[in-house]
Parts: sequence; C-alpha cells; structure tokens
Amino acid sequence: MVLKSQGEIELMHAANGLVHQVLDSLTSMVEPGVTTRELDRAAEKIIRDAGAVPAFLNYRGFPATLCTSINDVIVHGIPDETALAEGDIIGIDCGVLYKGYYGDAARTFAVGEIGKEAQNLLDTTRRSLELAIAAVQPGGRLTDIGAAVQKHVEAHGFSVVRDFVGHGIGAALHEEPQVPNFGPAGKGPRLKPGLVLAIEPMVNAGSPGVKVDPDGWTARTDDGSLSAHFEFSVAVTEDGPLVLGSEQPERASATG
Ligand code: MG
Ligand code: MG
Repeated sequence: MVLKSQGEIELMHAANGLVHQVLDSLTSMVEPGVTTRELDRAAEKIIRDAGAVPAFLNYRGFPATLCTSINDVIVHGIPDETALAEGDIIGIDCGVLYKGYYGDAARTFAVGEIGKEAQNLLDTTRRSLELAIAAVQPGGRLTDIGAAVQKHVEAHGFSVVRDFVGHGIGAALHEEPQVPNFGPAGKGPRLKPGLVLAIEPMVNAGSPGVKVDPDGWTARTDDGSLSAHFEFSVAVTEDGPLVLGSEQPERASATG
C-alpha cells in the first residue's frame, strides 16, 4: 500500500475535483433523449480543456471516457447511441489523470421520474457509501468499510455485488488494497493516514450475481434487476476521512 504525502493528497483533491466538476456538469444533461455518447463527449471535452487526460479511455482497451451503466447494468457500460428514457437510472463513472495523479468517482442519476424501488435503491446505495466513508478512521481496519456497506444494504433488502470492489488510488488508477463492499468488520490491514481509497458500493435490487456481455465490459445483474453505483475517493487522515474533490460535503457526512 502506498501512503501519500500531504502534497500528493492535495494533487489528488484537484484530480477528484475535476471528476466532480464533470459529474456536476452532466447532471443537467441527464434527460430523456440524450445519448450516452453525448454524455461521453461532453465529459471528455471538460477533462481535456482542464489539461487532464480521461483515465478510462484505452484502459485495458476500454473505448470511452465514461462508463455509462443503465438500469440492470452494474458497471462498465460503454457509451453509444443509446438514448436515455424517462424512468431509467444511469450510473456514470468518471476517472481522470491530472498532474500525475488519478481521480475516480461515480454517481447514479435518475432520468426524469423514476419508480419507488429505483429511488430506494439509489438512496440506499448513496447512504451505504456515506456510512463506508464514516468507517475510514485511522487505526481502524480495512474491512470496517465493506461491513458498513453490507449491513446497510442488506437491511434494506438489497444485495452487494461481490465480483467488483473498490481500490487504492494514487499515481496508478488501481492500487492495493482491494476494498470489498462486504465481509465482517475488524479484519485486514490497519487504515493509516496517507492511504487513499476509491470506495464504490455496487448494489443490486435482486441477487448479487453478475453476467458480462459479449463486449467483455458491460456487467449486468444476472436476474435483470436494477443496480446502482456511487464512488468517492477518500483519504485517511489523522482526523478521519477526507473526501477528495467533493463540493457537496453533505454527501460526506455520516452520523448514523
Ligand atoms: Mg470509478
Ligand atoms: Mg474506482
């Protein structure tokens, strides 16, 4: 595990700030009729105009700036000519490389009016991320994070995806350790100041199972149920969790 200096964490705050700027900008574009390719082009322009590089483009051959994951797609959906429809949910995951450091964050958006179960899934997943962030305490253990996610998600009758996990992040997009969204608390390495983790619960309305499309990327729920995904990059500090790049501090607060 690579521990970051204060200066490196400031650079990562800037990288993640750009990611959140992209996600904020896309919020007003997420409407029925917009295509995922249009969202992708808008994101790429913001990133390049800022002097940064899209982190996912060409990563292991991934063909786009964003991952756009609609309805039963859990993660890694590829932007294309698909138009969003009223009542869809869409997970948008964005990564950038800026001044040598990576930023990585994701949100799931409602397209117009969505159903009650879909809204509950979004609220539960976002809340599970807040609770996971609250578990990022110096001296705590790595699996405290996933335990917080799993407890909240399962209490709401949903399930946590096992096949994909969060990760360390820094000068590489994916660093040690892996950050599962499940498992018992109190295990794994101790959380030390300077560790930066991309925490990203993926939550299915039905079973936790995953199937991947023939494109090799698009990961769907195996039962066709809806899935949601939220992600923040978070630094461990002496004072507790520091959510990088967030201009929405209410999303980072978790009190119970
Ligand atoms: Mg991501
Ligand atoms: Mg990530």
